[in-house]
Amino acid sequence: MGTSVQFFGAARTVTGSKYLLTGEKGKILIDFGMFRGEDRLTQKNYEEFDFNPEEIQYVILTHAHIDHSGLIPRLVKKGFRGRILCTKPTLDLCKIMFLDAAHVESIEIEWRNRKRQRAGKPLLEPVYNAEDAAFCMTYFETIEYGKIKDLKNGFKVKFADAGHILGSAIVEISAKIDGEEKKLVFSGDLGNEMQELIRDPEKLVNADYLFIESTYGDRLHKSHKDTIREFENAIISAERDRGNIIIPAFAVERTQEIIFELSHMYKRNNLDGFSVYVDSPLAIAATEIFEANSRYFDEETKTAMKKGVHPFSFPSLVYCKRMEDSRALNDLKSNAIIVSASGMCEAGRIKHHLKHNLWREECVIIFTGYQAIGTTGRAIVDGVKTVKIFGEDIAVRAKIFTLGGFSGHADQNGLLKWLFNFKNKKMQVFVVHGEEKSALAFAEKIREKKKLQVTVPELGQKIKL
Ligand SMILES: [Zn+2]
Ligand SMILES: [Zn+2]
Repeated sequence: MGTSVQFFGAARTVTGSKYLLTGEKGKILIDFGMFRGEDRLTQKNYEEFDFNPEEIQYVILTHAHIDHSGLIPRLVKKGFRGRILCTKPTLDLCKIMFLDAAHVESIEIEWRNRKRQRAGKPLLEPVYNAEDAAFCMTYFETIEYGKIKDLKNGFKVKFADAGHILGSAIVEISAKIDGEEKKLVFSGDLGNEMQELIRDPEKLVNADYLFIESTYGDRLHKSHKDTIREFENAIISAERDRGNIIIPAFAVERTQEIIFELSHMYKRNNLDGFSVYVDSPLAIAATEIFEANSRYFDEETKTAMKKGVHPFSFPSLVYCKRMEDSRALNDLKSNAIIVSASGMCEAGRIKHHLKHNLWREECVIIFTGYQAIGTTGRAIVDGVKTVKIFGEDIAVRAKIFTLGGFSGHADQNGLLKWLFNFKNKKMQVFVVHGEEKSALAFAEKIREKKKLQVTVPELGQKIKL
């Protein structure tokens, strides 16, 4: 028997985070995310689980991003009746994100099934629908950072702030393994200290087993100063050429950080002549949740707010709530900064804005977050000449900027610095949540700097602890 961990996602890839922890008295999942991007992975969202959902007592959810949380409605639909533990902002965000995911899925499934029908294959049932998305929320239970929760199945859980998005958590789990009390730490997604609104990732010192993300395990971000300078250059370029600026941004955290940054630029008169449009119903709903949960912001932001600073509003900022407001943006040829989702250009209103602006060389596209393999965003960043949007070939002629400093993830240095806080020289490290190249490079870097035992698990691999 003993205790084991099995990697059902985010192993040698960034998406689909889900790890099954089996102890002598119980089974829990850490995250239960959807796969995104590559087809060989996304089709796994439709497959049967490799375990019985009825046997799982808890899902410990690190944060609300769909690639960590997005299959929870399906887990409940398939018989899970345990509890889902997360922070209060994560619960609030999941509510809107699951509904959005169900909506995206209804479009996706139609497209997939049309293809399957033509190929004579059996039709797929949607991963879940809006009803499943709403129903699973009844199984959620919130926990504050720093509080210990005894799951009464051999595991105790504690959350620390991961500084990645509002409500994001690093998960510490205590377990008896072969009669000894051991500590497992799951980093979740670790934040970038340059993020302004939220706190920096909390430092931990004790772990016997560490599961650490490696999204940017082989890369460094530009400094905050360089990032802002590049952002300003992008604006100058669009102004000079009389074009628009399109910013694909994840609806949660990235959009709010960008709005906050744009509000600083507005005050410095960098945005003269431009109007800023936030065009994503999900991002607008998420911004409202941020406002309602401002007690989780970092001290600096809270102090500024007490002095009357509004992080999410300034005179030239417009939230496009109605469909016709969004459509009207298609007629704007210059002086518009449009922030829209999804961040990797796979779904949502951003596709319309790319269709209308990507082929115009006077325009500027600014990428601010991670672009997974197989996504439209990744293709553009990698320099393809055309992309398919709504079945139409669109030339990539606009100027492309990638602002790494806005990333929600720590870079290689940030990850190493965080990892070096741990004191245990016998700690076993598992490098997860990174594309293979990045995960392997990061593992090598850890071995080089510290003599720790490091494993880069394969998808589906089971490891006895
Ligand atoms: Zn995330
Ligand atoms: Zn992630």
